Amino acid sequence: MTAQIISGKELSKEIRAELKDEVEQLKEKGITPGLAVILVGEDPASQVYVRNKAKACEKLGIHEITKTLPADTSEEDLLALVEKFNEDPTFHGILVQLPLPKHIDESKVLYAIDPLKDVDGFHPVNVGKLMIGDPYFLPCTPHGIQEMLLRSGNDPARKHVVVVGRSNIVGKPIANILLQKKEGANATVTICHTGTDDIAKYTKDADIVIAATGWPNTVTADMVKDGVVVIDVGVNRVDDPSKERGYRLVGDVDFEGIKEKAAAISPVPGGVGPMTITMLMKNTVRAAKLAHGIED
Ligand code: NAP
Repeated sequence: MTAQIISGKELSKEIRAELKDEVEQLKEKGITPGLAVILVGEDPASQVYVRNKAKACEKLGIHEITKTLPADTSEEDLLALVEKFNEDPTFHGILVQLPLPKHIDESKVLYAIDPLKDVDGFHPVNVGKLMIGDPYFLPCTPHGIQEMLLRSGNDPARKHVVVVGRSNIVGKPIANILLQKKEGANATVTICHTGTDDIAKYTKDADIVIAATGWPNTVTADMVKDGVVVIDVGVNRVDDPSKERGYRLVGDVDFEGIKEKAAAISPVPGGVGPMTITMLMKNTVRAAKLAHGIED
């Protein structure tokens, strides 16, 4: 069987082209979607993520500002900046880049963001609204996974989806999104984690496996059935002396082994990763529409 490769890179291009049109239409109405990004400290990985978000905004015509604060910024000062952006009508979305320095209570900062500007979808109001099927915003990575399934012709409706991993940013929300009684969802969902005794028992029955554990080879070919669809969320570095930088990126599943059995599989890199930023752009455009009472 030759597996369909679900390229997040290609699907992202498609979605970003749609978003560019939407931004242009909004601008014709005098609305420029705006995103405020707050970065505290100098973590190199966070700096790269923030730069990529700024570049994506620029390409789509979204107004973006990155506020970089020193690592010793007080919680109070950070909360004051969040409040300032909450009040500023030119910014429809606010994103605080995680992780924050240890002296700052991450939850307190995330909870301070206006839920209607919470384009990361991490505020408890948005988590709760997702649970009851009435979200302002879906969190970016799970939203990207759902889009990958739908746009690649792998509708999860009536399928058994097994999610491996139960984090608040990937596992739990994707499970919640796909079990909603809605178009593009309506799946039967099982969640596995480190407390699951025999993960293969569940993954072998899965029509769709979504792996988000942070460990290479959590799901291997012997753990899935023929014709399975696999979305690999993981991003892991493994040593590779043949590469100039000494490592390569792999996901959480055995891509080479599983692709021989799967109907479709997403690669790493070039899979879920590019979709995450694209969904942030989509949420920012949605935030601008919500602020102006425009239906999606
Ligand atoms: P996380 O917070 O560390 O959560 C990992 C989850 O996987 C936990 O629920 C853990 O179970 C479970 N788990 C770990 N090892 C397992 C195993 N051997 N068998 C079954 N379950 C296992 O990680 P995360 O934030 O969800 O991220 C997961 C992966 O996705 C990471 O590689 C991360 O880099 C990647 N990621 C990628 C993107 C992207 O945009 N491409 C975005 C977010 C995350 P317990 O709850 O029992 O500990």
